[in-house]
Amino acid sequence: MNEALHYTKLENNQVQCKLCPRYCIIEEGRFGDCHARRNRHGVLSSEVYGKLSAMNTDPIEKKPLYHFFPGKEILSIGTMGCNLHCVFCQNHALSQCNNRKPVLKKNIHSDDLLDLIIKDQNNIGISFTYNEPTVNYEYVMEIARLVKMRSKFTVMVSNGYINPDPLALLTEYIDAFNIDLKGFNNSFYKKYSKATLAPVLESLLQIKKSGKHLEITNLVIPTINDDEDEFEAMCKWISRELGEDTILHLSRYFPRYELSQYPTPPEILFHLYDIAKNYLNHVYLGNMATELYSNTSCPKCKHTIIERTYFHIVKSGITDDGKCIKCGTSIIKYI
Ligand code: SF4
Repeated sequence: MNEALHYTKLENNQVQCKLCPRYCIIEEGRFGDCHARRNRHGVLSSEVYGKLSAMNTDPIEKKPLYHFFPGKEILSIGTMGCNLHCVFCQNHALSQCNNRKPVLKKNIHSDDLLDLIIKDQNNIGISFTYNEPTVNYEYVMEIARLVKMRSKFTVMVSNGYINPDPLALLTEYIDAFNIDLKGFNNSFYKKYSKATLAPVLESLLQIKKSGKHLEITNLVIPTINDDEDEFEAMCKWISRELGEDTILHLSRYFPRYELSQYPTPPEILFHLYDIAKNYLNHVYLGNMATELYSNTSCPKCKHTIIERTYFHIVKSGITDDGKCIKCGTSIIKYI
């Protein structure tokens, strides 16, 4: 058994998990809401520790991270389970499965994972992604610690629905985050994700304050979360609280899982892109059959520093330490 962190024991062999804002009280033998943590005889156990459901080497742009080691590759791993239940989940086969429909494969020894990244010169480290990494907290912490000991880098792609104390420990070992900001409306979070907005905003603020690299993804769903005023309020908040250089990825929605809404029309994404650019220097469109709005330009002198054709990168206007070759503005993070 792999005992979980961040929980307390209660009477009658119950436990309360304190990893995320759900604060599940779990009876003996039962699972928490994420289906990844279970009460085994009064001890909270991580049921997904070291059991991978997916493992691939991807371009880092696929996470998406556009301002963190562009052009490099990263080993991406995931387990199963999620502490949110988005009806539009784009990866529900891994996130919304449970112990009755397991997708977990074999245990993979941490040495084998590390070997994969060490022997590949173009690989910068490991990304925790596919399902929600928070619910596999203990394994993420352990692998991230080992990766850092080998002087490689760690990335977490997350919904940001985690409590401040566990997140503070994580930020010691994670170098870059991509956080999903699914909307800017608490009712939307409640209705479509069975969650609340405030903890996600708190996580964004905490990550920013930690100094770790941060990019944000917003999945745009037509008629569900594409209200112009709400979107503009979100961009204003990001700019005011996290800074105008915060990177925002607008991602096109396709019908998945329990939501059958039609795919986001590209013109909606183009329109929201224009709104976002009034407040933020770096906005990108993703999940589209076009490479429009995927280049990186210097916000100061407007010189194009990186051209992207999907995941193919041409770095033509950038110094080795991530500055614009023309005016010296710092844009890309190489740590
Ligand atoms: S991490 Fe899982 S078990 Fe813990 S509070 Fe969140 S949903 Fe519940």
